[in-house]
Amino acid sequence: MIDLHTHSLRSDGTDTPGELINKALALNLDVLALTDHDTMEGWQEAKNYLRPGLDLVLGAEISCQTEDGISVHMLGLLFDGENQILHETLTQTRENRHGRMERIVTRLQGAGIDIELSEVLEQLSEGATLGRPHLADALVKKRIVKSREEAFATLLHNNSKYYVPHFSPTPEEIVKQVAEAGGVSIIAHPFASLRGRTINSETFSGLVAAGLNGIEVDHRDQTPDQRAQLRAIAREFGLVVTGSSDYHGIGKDNRLAECSTAPEEWERLESLANDRRVVRA
Ligand code: AMP
Ligand code: ZN
Ligand code: FE
Ligand code: FE
Repeated sequence: MIDLHTHSLRSDGTDTPGELINKALALNLDVLALTDHDTMEGWQEAKNYLRPGLDLVLGAEISCQTEDGISVHMLGLLFDGENQILHETLTQTRENRHGRMERIVTRLQGAGIDIELSEVLEQLSEGATLGRPHLADALVKKRIVKSREEAFATLLHNNSKYYVPHFSPTPEEIVKQVAEAGGVSIIAHPFASLRGRTINSETFSGLVAAGLNGIEVDHRDQTPDQRAQLRAIAREFGLVVTGSSDYHGIGKDNRLAECSTAPEEWERLESLANDRRVVRA
């Protein structure tokens, strides 16, 4: 089983990178990618816990925004972790997330919700990428909502009046930066409409021209119909088709490897990176 999209405590997952590796080993996964939001922070710990039998793919789920303000998540995998441009991009995005959180908190306070930025930051583990799930956790701790799910359903979703985006590069820019760093890029859950506005099928040709390598088709937030449309787009442009869990530990209702990638698709994807960067114990 091949799972190419997972999160740890280094962003908004709830398992440490080590726990994530141990769970993947226990489930006998063949390939696991660690793709925390806008960070490579968990890479070293994941490598330290690796044991024979599991191939580790290091990556990041990179926040992007189209010219017309649609949020896009790009999975960058197998890129050179020393690449300066990507380092700077990710650092910048992580910093932007702080000002953005402050603004969301201010909006919530304006509506009489008793929450402070410091309480949100308490939910964040050392050096992790800040996100709305940490705000959700703070709201749960204060018993304003019962769960992350309820927080997103009521206050934190993308169409909420409290929502503020954070500035991030366009998906085309990120695809180019990932390619420049020798890696491959897969657009994550492109048609997951639960999360807000999504790109339309015409946007794909621009991404392909920039160097997009694959599409995440099998993901729990995409319906069978949306998956069929994405599979057709992948076929049209010769893109790799992936499937993954987007595992977040107990932070979200999903299980490791609940969706997975076919071995031949993974082999093709790996061959598109400029070096063999899969980590083995
Ligand atoms: P942010 O990165 O701050 O914009 O927050 C988006 C993140 O929140 C996504 O990457 C998901 O991991 C998480 N998320 C989105 N919707 C939900 C939900 N309904 N329940 C739990 N987590 C969610
Ligand atoms: Zn997340
Ligand atoms: Fe995502
Ligand atoms: Fe994700």
